Amino acid sequence: MSQSSGLTKAYAQQLDAQDELASYREEFYLLPSLYLDGNSLGLMSKRAEKSVMDMMQSWKELGVEGWTTGRHPWFFFSEKLAEMSAALVGAGPEEVIVTGSTTINLHQLAATFYRPVGKRSKVVATELDFPTDIYALQSQMKLHGLDPEEHLVRVASRDGRLIEEEDIIDAMTDEVALVVLPTVLYRSGQLLDIERLTAAAHERGILIGFDGCHSVGAIPHSFSKWGVDFAYWCNYKYVNAGPGSVGSLYVNRKHFGRTPGLAGWFSSKKDKQFDMDHTLEACESAGAYQIGTPHMLSLAPLLGSLEMFQEVSMEKLRTKSLGLTRFMMDLIEVELTDMGFTIANPQQDDRRGGHVSLEHEEAIRICKALKEAGIIPDFRAPNIIRLAPVAFYTTYTEVWESVQILKAIMLEKSYEKFENKREVVA
Ligand SMILES: *Cc1c(COP(=O)(O)O)cnc(C)c1O
Repeated sequence: MSQSSGLTKAYAQQLDAQDELASYREEFYLLPSLYLDGNSLGLMSKRAEKSVMDMMQSWKELGVEGWTTGRHPWFFFSEKLAEMSAALVGAGPEEVIVTGSTTINLHQLAATFYRPVGKRSKVVATELDFPTDIYALQSQMKLHGLDPEEHLVRVASRDGRLIEEEDIIDAMTDEVALVVLPTVLYRSGQLLDIERLTAAAHERGILIGFDGCHSVGAIPHSFSKWGVDFAYWCNYKYVNAGPGSVGSLYVNRKHFGRTPGLAGWFSSKKDKQFDMDHTLEACESAGAYQIGTPHMLSLAPLLGSLEMFQEVSMEKLRTKSLGLTRFMMDLIEVELTDMGFTIANPQQDDRRGGHVSLEHEEAIRICKALKEAGIIPDFRAPNIIRLAPVAFYTTYTEVWESVQILKAIMLEKSYEKFENKREVVA
């Protein structure tokens, strides 16, 4: 089939008919609108709902005994979920713990791994990072009495969209103690070469950690094989564990035994914790970087959600995700030419994440028009429309429909009736 004839609704339907993962769509509560915002908040699955209800039930029926009895004793639940998530990041089960949130976990990991010594005092990040990562790094620096203006190096983007790996490597001087980077950039969807950057940091005696919020659940990782020192991510985007669900962190086993920068009684060896001793014996696994009592009700949905990731390999999910985003980009190129759009994400399979990043000077108003037309996109200031077709629940037909609707909005200029102002949450 030629490429242009491949861009029909019939072809999209044919791809859906051949899709091995098609049955998973029924596992989710779909919205009346066509949902393309799974990179911000994944949809609720029936299994995630059930695991929350099960958690409520165990509280109802067991009271405090729920910590040690029942189907999933709460005291070991974070470790159980970590074991279930290890394959998502290519780690051993003890190298992951489900705990805290992205920002809290970065604080913990920076408190543990950022050790400015002599002239090796700098941290390398990028100017396109998600703000919370920068705020956390700045405040960690201040706790060391260092001025972030001087010690936090933010690698510049050449085009405002992408960061060149070469530029990051050039910034890895002998004054750098730590590099913290996103796996996938949240706006442009650029996937960094994690393996190459890790090797480059290590050659220079620098530790390196990654923020995996925009890749975990969308892309396979091999953190252990690549030797990544640490990583952290949320579980409410592509992992579909619900708003504010507990996040995760990864620590390479070569660092096991390193004293947690921010300790708490859940850092303990499990069998020692209830000795209630005032000298911490931290466990020798990623579990050491837990702090206090786990948020059971926000951990619960992960169980149901991760069951699905145990059934379907990350490779299969990635293959479908790449198929969906490729189809979307091909449609955009054919259907939306000369309408002022630029595809801002890299086009190559090994350089793009799970979403398509569309730039347009009218992005705010176009997003509002899309919502009115029954499509939920995501806007990032000042000019980005993010469209995330999710392997578990988006169809090729939906991708086809969404581009047709976007085309109609542009032809009719129906976005012009909206105010050019972003919402409080955008
Ligand atoms: C979503 C996201 C966060 C969010 O951090 P929270 O602590 O969960 O609020 C952080 N970093 C990146 C790159 C993100 O995409």
